[in-house]
Amino acid sequence: MGLGSVSEFCYNLTESYLSIKNNTEIISETQNAIRLTRRYLLEDIFTLWNPLNSEISFSYNGGKDCQVLLLIYLGCLWEFFQMHTRASQFDAKYHQFPSERLPAVFIDQDEIFPTLEQFVTDTVDRYFLSLYESLRDGGKSADMSEAFRQFLKMNPETKGIVIGIRHTDPFAQNLLPIQRTDPDWPDFMRLQPLLHWKLANIWSFLLYSGEPTCGLYKLGFTSIGNINETNPNPYLKATEHTVDDCKFQWEIENAYNKSCSSISCSALHGDDIERAQKLDDDYFPGWFLTDDSLERAGRIKRK
Ligand code: FAD
Ligand code: MG
Ligand code: MG
Repeated sequence: MGLGSVSEFCYNLTESYLSIKNNTEIISETQNAIRLTRRYLLEDIFTLWNPLNSEISFSYNGGKDCQVLLLIYLGCLWEFFQMHTRASQFDAKYHQFPSERLPAVFIDQDEIFPTLEQFVTDTVDRYFLSLYESLRDGGKSADMSEAFRQFLKMNPETKGIVIGIRHTDPFAQNLLPIQRTDPDWPDFMRLQPLLHWKLANIWSFLLYSGEPTCGLYKLGFTSIGNINETNPNPYLKATEHTVDDCKFQWEIENAYNKSCSSISCSALHGDDIERAQKLDDDYFPGWFLTDDSLERAGRIKRK
């Protein structure tokens, strides 16, 4: 396995999802969402910046949204490579996938859940990321814009950074798929091809992929911030649900990655298990919630 093979795997995964027929409204809506994201990447973004030569970096924090975007992005990378191979005068067998790792950036903050931290490390290996981590690279856990300023100093060839932000996130309603950063941020292009995705689309594709996701979602988390500001989602309390509330049974039973026999979540860190045991209630898994307006209901507001 290398970046080339995992990209090919993601291409086949995406094609497989797109070929699902006669299914739920969520699936056909998600198929349209994927088509639009692919169009942004292949026709608008990859025609302006070459994704195979470090001009583009991928912002990754182990959350469900950037994982979905990463799977689709890698699939598009494969498609981009194939298009170039076909356009070349040389036979396909003379073309080697030109990069070994995908440039990615993680602004490592204090008080991150150890399960999430481990998951980020696992996915670096799984998806062949070359991950810049702000804390490990000597930066302070300052605010995000400062961390990116530091990142750009170390990686001046970066022109654009891919972000898994969605319109339903705070202050994201009016964002565009391609836009410059705000004046108080370091100057680069924000590449945001996932804006139109709803929570239900995210879970439908991710559960169908069968890829391991961060184990915290199994505990009823729906949006993961730092440890002291994030609880499982109160709308997922076990007393208020039945197993029939899962809208993705078909995706789970027909998952693409058959090597994972059931829903595949990363291992939970002991500290996080302990934290969950101290809670008064049991919770259904994160994918039982599909109302975008309640996605962050587990976040504790800063005083
Ligand atoms: P989440 O769902 O947690 O995050 C949305 C996406 O942001 C993730 O999928 C991931 O791609 C990225 N991301 C979030 N946290 C991290 C992290 N710790 N490390 C790496 N990636 C992460 N805000 C402005 O006001 N003006 C700007 O110009 C601006 N530029 C940005 C450029 C980049 C590259 C990024 C990553 C963020 C930028 N932001 C900017 C902040 C952005 O709008 C969100 O507020 C921020 O991503 C946090 O998202 P969230 O926690 O609300 O949602
Ligand atoms: Mg998110
Ligand atoms: Mg966040």
